[in-house]
Amino acid sequence: MDLKEHIREIPDFPKPGILFYDISTLLAHADAWQVTMGRMAKAARQHQPDVIAGIESRGFLVAAPLALKLGCGFIMVRKKGKLPGTTIKHTYELEYGQDTVEIQEGAIEPGQRVMLVDDLLATGGTFAASVELLRKVGAEVAGAACIIELAFLKGRDKIDVPVHALVSYD
Ligand code: IMP
Repeated sequence: MDLKEHIREIPDFPKPGILFYDISTLLAHADAWQVTMGRMAKAARQHQPDVIAGIESRGFLVAAPLALKLGCGFIMVRKKGKLPGTTIKHTYELEYGQDTVEIQEGAIEPGQRVMLVDDLLATGGTFAASVELLRKVGAEVAGAACIIELAFLKGRDKIDVPVHALVSYD
């Protein structure tokens, strides 16, 4: 099955000139979503993770069912200020400004193998920052996986773990 047929391309969102790849149509299609999660599971199993970490917010939609499929726990990597209790933070540079990702203290035990999951890889900044964050708490980041890679942005060059993408746009 060609998953691209189920991914909607929306011009000028969220800003003029940006082409947004929308997975809503993929999620809404029962067969396409089953196939997507089957392929994700195949990629993730190669790395024998203990835990699946999803990146806010569409990454949660992929990571939580993946964790169930693999019999792993699921943890959240969130933007600043969203998680209750004590958190561990990592701040990273954007083209204009900074951003911060957080996880809850104790969400991961040192040495656990973590598979990091998001919906889409663009410049690689989000994945790279999340890898750093997970390493701060002693996790072993076994790999990263996403549904869509915008290969022309060469984001995977910023990520020093194996990266899996189910579909790629040049
Ligand atoms: P990066 O940090 O530049 O790799 O951007 C990836 C992050 O931005 C991911 O968390 C994506 O959810 C989000 N993102 C960027 N472009 C798109 C898009 O076209 N569709 C869906 N999400 C996107």
